Amino acid sequence: MEDNRILKLDERTASKIAAGEVVERPAMVIKELVENAIDAGATEIIVDIKKGGKSYIKVSDNGRGINYEDLSLVFERHATSKIRSIEDLYATASLGFRGEALASICAVSTVELITLREGENSGRKVQAAGGTIQKISEVGTSKGTTIIVNDLFYNTPARLKFLKSDMAEGRSITELMGFLALSHPEVTIKYSSDDKMIFHTQGKGSLVNAIFAVFDQNMVKGMYEISDRQDKLQLNGFISRFDYTKGTRAQQLLFVNGRYVKSDLIKEVIHMAYKPYMMNNRFPACVLFLEIPPSEIDVNIHPAKTEIKFHDDGLIKQFVFSALKKAFNLYDQVPKVTFK
Ligand code: ADP
Ligand code: MG
Repeated sequence: MEDNRILKLDERTASKIAAGEVVERPAMVIKELVENAIDAGATEIIVDIKKGGKSYIKVSDNGRGINYEDLSLVFERHATSKIRSIEDLYATASLGFRGEALASICAVSTVELITLREGENSGRKVQAAGGTIQKISEVGTSKGTTIIVNDLFYNTPARLKFLKSDMAEGRSITELMGFLALSHPEVTIKYSSDDKMIFHTQGKGSLVNAIFAVFDQNMVKGMYEISDRQDKLQLNGFISRFDYTKGTRAQQLLFVNGRYVKSDLIKEVIHMAYKPYMMNNRFPACVLFLEIPPSEIDVNIHPAKTEIKFHDDGLIKQFVFSALKKAFNLYDQVPKVTFK
């Protein structure tokens, strides 16, 4: 600005800027909405998207619904039912706690929220756009909450332009939905894109079933179970047989304390363990769940970040490596040395 004067931004501009930090892409909207559904105790979540989530996102759950007295607050920034004080932040078991997601989503789209709270006879529908509630009305619906997000970023053209193609945005939503389904096999998840069912998990708590639904039968057949613990560390999941390999590392998934994360360290350990048994440029698949005391890790608490740092890299490396090697031996995969 020419005149160098400092002015306080008006509320609407400030909230659009803040919104961009929570929801940069359609996949981030889906992540927030699905995590809200899980926090609401849903056992079934249905996700529908159109045009890579740019034109239409619908997330329905059968969770506990929203208190009708609070409906005027759902799209307000820092409005949450999950924590009451800063102390709660460190003790909360819920996935969300900032009370920013719905406000951010609503600031940059047209939103319809329908909810039927346990114990109520009729549902409520809240219509809002650009951060402002337009109407709250009575509606017939089943228990739970549905949120429909239309025309994401319609009022922030710069952000809209920054999005990738419908296909690319759709792909990252599909990837995210896979992570969510694998980390919550206890929830039935139905996911479709442009009216085509992409996957449908059974929600019976079985990881194998979830892998089967998200990926395919070959992936299930090509892997076997791993389970190991050492002091406060625990590793569970599924890893490739030596004859089941992939052309990329895209199917090496890691969840730490139930959350999908990225870790170059673990990728390197997997590589080291498998290297003697794999051809060049072939990679194992794995779905690993590591449990570790929260005090031993730094997870960037920014909702968009998934990188994780371990306080003791050496310990994690040694534990995961030995767990993999033990599993190899257990399944008799390692070629035996024969003495003559
Ligand atoms: P946070 O999840 O951090 O609390 P959000 O903006 O995501 O903030 O949601 C605000 C509040 O709206 C939540 O605290 C919760 O009470 C309510 N809410 C949002 N989505 C749902 C849902 N699917 N079912 C029930 N309540 C919900
Ligand atoms: Mg939330």
